[in-house]
Parts: sequence; structure tokens; C-alpha cells
Amino acid sequence: MWRVFALGIGEGLANDVCYSYVMKQSRRHLTFSLRLLVAVLLAGQLLVTTPAHAADAVEKKAVLQDRKKWVFKEDGVTFNNEFAGARVNECTRLGKDEYRLLIKPENAPVNNSAWYAFQVQAKESKSITVRVIYEGGGHRYRPKFSTDGSSWEPLATNLWQVSPKRTELTLQLKVETEPLWVSGQEIITQETLNEWLENVVIQPYITRTNVGKSIGGRSIEAFVINDEAPPNYVFFISRQHPPEVTGQLGLMRFIETLTVDSPLGQSFRERFRVFVVPMVNPDGVHEGQWRHNLGGVDLNRDWVKFAQPETRAVRDAIVECLKEEGAKPYLMIDFHSTDQDIFYTQKEDAKIFPPKFTDTWLAQIKERLPEYQQNRSGDHNVGMPTSKYWAHEQYGIAAITFEFGDNTDRSFIRELTRASAEEMMKLLIEADKVQNLPKPQ
Ligand SMILES: [Zn+2]
Repeated sequence: MWRVFALGIGEGLANDVCYSYVMKQSRRHLTFSLRLLVAVLLAGQLLVTTPAHAADAVEKKAVLQDRKKWVFKEDGVTFNNEFAGARVNECTRLGKDEYRLLIKPENAPVNNSAWYAFQVQAKESKSITVRVIYEGGGHRYRPKFSTDGSSWEPLATNLWQVSPKRTELTLQLKVETEPLWVSGQEIITQETLNEWLENVVIQPYITRTNVGKSIGGRSIEAFVINDEAPPNYVFFISRQHPPEVTGQLGLMRFIETLTVDSPLGQSFRERFRVFVVPMVNPDGVHEGQWRHNLGGVDLNRDWVKFAQPETRAVRDAIVECLKEEGAKPYLMIDFHSTDQDIFYTQKEDAKIFPPKFTDTWLAQIKERLPEYQQNRSGDHNVGMPTSKYWAHEQYGIAAITFEFGDNTDRSFIRELTRASAEEMMKLLIEADKVQNLPKPQ
């Protein structure tokens, strides 16, 4: 398994680890008066707080990249970032057919998830060298390419290399007259999800809705699988963190298993309503941000304060679902990506409903996939204001962060989610039967 930046990747850590580095970075971008204000605030904060809290004092809104074309007439080469999910902050020519792309995070401090995505084309077919320079982070995502923006392939390993300090990625690209997309992962936007719902998941028992709007005014889309079932609720969310595409793929494949025509699927759908918010952070995805929403905040650290409209909207929708008479929550899964496949769960001795759900579920998945190295941690981000923490605190239900490795084989994502979805359905059907047993007199 490919492992870099053990301290930077995935959930947590970044706010503490990157603190001093990020302070340096963010100062550079502040105007003098803002700088003065920050200094005063910080001086006060630093006296009484730990670095993690002091980081709040430098929180600032996400800075948008300029959307543009960079035309290099000498070489007949054009780059652009004018599409959803793109990220390039600057593009300059270094020499004949050689270019430098600067990639910066939306604000700081930020988890190191250095996302890049651009389009390039040429007047005539040629080979070019592109140096991707990461500012405020280091290389995380192996390059992929596409000629249509929807089907993606990894760039051959002999065509890219990462500098020893991981601050630079060099790409050798064959450019044609038609655009070539290059990106850290497959680009999955809200539009991709809409097409998927219309063409793949297409089922009459799916009701599309939304939970509200993002800071940027984008609809936070949602859907319900069978809202005619009794109000036994299962909640799935994904994409709080924009670059975590394997988590998004995990959610999509999971839903495909729940909506397949099978006796198990049918029995599950007759008993449960599944409420899904597949893209909690649509602005972050659209802007190609590394981690945050337009407020410059990590949404999966906002589940206590609920200071951001996106987290508030998802919470309010869940609360609203559960206001219905007889409504009962059973499970919440939040799909993410990190450097490995891992389940972040409650502590193993935590009291949860359905009783023993997580232990049994993971054991059954393991039995289905004996070759698979299953990782579980009940100690990750304990007490941090994540969706997992909130759902368990609020409802006592099993609440799980289902993490997929950045480089997990895409066909294995399908296999793992099929096994997980089927075993989840079996367990929840059993739990529902137990709930409905006649009570002893
Ligand atoms: Zn995440």
C-alpha cells in the first residue's frame, strides 16, 4: 500500500501538525491591517490556548482560484481550469514545451490533500513537461487522465515522478488538439452524481430532494430509498472532504447494491428508509478545494458547533426525518478516503444500537472477504466534532466513518461495498424483527 505523509493524510491531525507551517503560509497572503488584527488576536489566544485552539484565530474564508485559460502561443499550448472540480492557481512557461502549475489550498491550516485538476490541449500533437508545484502541502494523489472527462485511467508510472520532498510532481504528457484532463483522482461532480442517479440507480422508489443550500448557493442534493417504508432510518453521507473520491465511489457502489433487484434488497427496502446526502460539500468539490467549504472550515469538525450551513442543513434534515411518529434511527455511515481502507467506529465497549452491530457487521464482512486486510479503529478522533461523534452522541446508534484508500483498486471497492451492503441489510433486518417482537407481559 502506498503510504506518504502519515501525519497529513486523512482524518484529523492536520490542524495540530501543520500549525506552525501554516501560520507562515497564511501570513504571506494577508494585507497589513488584517495581519495586525490577526497578530493581536493571536497574542491573546496563544496565552491561554493550545495550538489546536489558536488555529481557530487564523481561520479565514476559502480563497477562490481565478478561473481562466493560459495560452502559450510560442508552443501552441493552452491550459485551463474552467470546469467543475478543476484546481490550478497559476500557470507559467518555463521553456519550450515546459510549464509550471502552482497548486495552493483554499486557506490554512488545512489537511494535506493537495488536489489538482486541469485541462490542456495543443495546436498540434506534441509531448510536454508539466511541473506541478504544491504550496502549503505535498503530493498525495497519483495522476489520472481522461479524454472525455468521464472515463479515467491512471497515468503510466514512467510518465510521472515526485520530488524527494514531495513538493513537486513532474508529468510527461502527450497533448493533442482535443482537451486532455489531468487530475489527482477521477472527477466526480454533482453533475456526475445526477447522471448516475438518472442512468444507473434509476428506480421508482427513489425520491430526490435536497437538504438546503451551501454558502455558494448550490443545492445540497439528497435522495431517499423508499420513503413508503416504515420510518426506520439509515443515513449515509459523503464528500464532506472534496478530494475524497474513493469514499464517493464507495457510497455509489454501496447504493447500487441496496437498489439491486434481489430478495434481500427487497426485504430490506420494505423495512427501511435510507436517507442519502451524497455530496455534503458541493462548493468545495466545484472549486477543487483540498478539504474545506467556502467558509474555510473542515465540515467534519463542525458537528458540535454547526457553524456552517452545510452541516446545519444535513443535521436539520436528519432531525426532521426523525420527528415523524414512530421514527427510529438505526445507523449512520459517513464515506471518506485516506491512505488505507479502514473503519473508524465507536470504541469497542461503547453502548450502541443495534446491539453489537459494528462488531458483527465487520466480522461478517471479513468472513465474506477472507483475503482482505480489515482495519478498524475505535480510538480515532474520539471526542472530535465529527458526524460519527454526533450521530452516536445524539441517538446512541452505530455511527461509522467508512474510509477507502486513495489507491484502493476500484474493482475491489465494488467487492467490498457489495459484501458490506449485503451484510448490513441482513443485520438490520434481524434488528428490525427483534424490535417488532411482542413485548413480554
Ligand atoms: Zn475525510
